[in-house]
Amino acid sequence: MANDKEVVQRDLIILGSGPAGLSAAIYAARADLHPLILTGMALHGQAATTDTIENYPGFPEGVGGSELGMLFQTQAERFGAEIIMDHATSADLKQRPIKIESYGKEYQCKSLIITTGADPRKLGIPGEKEFTGKGVSYCGTCDGWFFKDKDIVVVGGGDSALEEGLFLTRFANSVTIIHRRDELRAGAILRKRAMEHPKIKFIWDSIVTEIMGEDAVNAVKLKNVKTDEEMIHKTDGIFIFIGHIPNSELFTGQIDMDKAGYIITNGVMETSVPGIYAAGEITDPHFRQVITSAGMGAAAAIQATHFLENLEAG
Ligand code: NAP
Repeated sequence: MANDKEVVQRDLIILGSGPAGLSAAIYAARADLHPLILTGMALHGQAATTDTIENYPGFPEGVGGSELGMLFQTQAERFGAEIIMDHATSADLKQRPIKIESYGKEYQCKSLIITTGADPRKLGIPGEKEFTGKGVSYCGTCDGWFFKDKDIVVVGGGDSALEEGLFLTRFANSVTIIHRRDELRAGAILRKRAMEHPKIKFIWDSIVTEIMGEDAVNAVKLKNVKTDEEMIHKTDGIFIFIGHIPNSELFTGQIDMDKAGYIITNGVMETSVPGIYAAGEITDPHFRQVITSAGMGAAAAIQATHFLENLEAG
């Protein structure tokens, strides 16, 4: 690692500022550890891009995703957490102190909590990259407003696709959900809401093979996976919700991960490297809820506190 950068030293550093990172920050700050949190590119994580969170306890009427992120941050800062807008570009987990580098600084710590989350999976088809921001989107809350009275398609059959599809009906004239099977993966409540919604239609057993347009998206090419039949479906936009990829590249080869790149933790959020913990979607392909990520973050901070106490006690 380059050593001509400003060096910042702390006992505990937390990477990521979503529900897991900021809950860890609250617990670590209350343990008087003065944690430093590097926010990463996505301030307050993916949850902040959700319009309304209806299942986080304590908010019977729901709470805005970005509002909840800000509340978490304010609470962490109140107890002495230091939150800075910076983004790790490399990590050395093998040496002590642990080293994290960003473009401008080198961070060193005795204990690390990784809460770098996950990014939306891409379809990887022609037109997807070219038209991102010009009709291709991975976030209904961010981009839905641009599709007022438009006809749009949503790809996927899970909870995200249906939840976002339902949200997009607020703006769009019609929402057509394209799913590669004839059975939805999403849970019963969302399935019922989507199936009964007058603006939502479904195209089953079909995949999108190309995104077409000129200055912006104007159609998608579909293929029926049962009949191989192809068709062009006119649309003003395509929202893709087909799962996520964990943001764990920085740590490849340095910490145990599963085949998909999720960091493996035990029941107390310990990774394969002593003193390093992981929490939230970086270690959780299954639950992916604000409440579960927050819980994992709190647990990781409690364990990191014990680790640092034991280190000090020798
Ligand atoms: P998911 O459950 O993994 O669903 C992904 C969907 O995309 C599946 O229907 C899958 O099809 C489809 N898919 C995957 N790759 C594809 C490809 N290359 N082309 C076309 N379709 C593709 O992901 P998710 O919906 O993001 O949800 C992830 C987790 O978060 C789940 O555990 C979910 O319950 C949770 N979640 C919960 C809520 C909520 O409770 N309100 C909201 C959002 C997410 P197949 O079904 O054929 O595999």
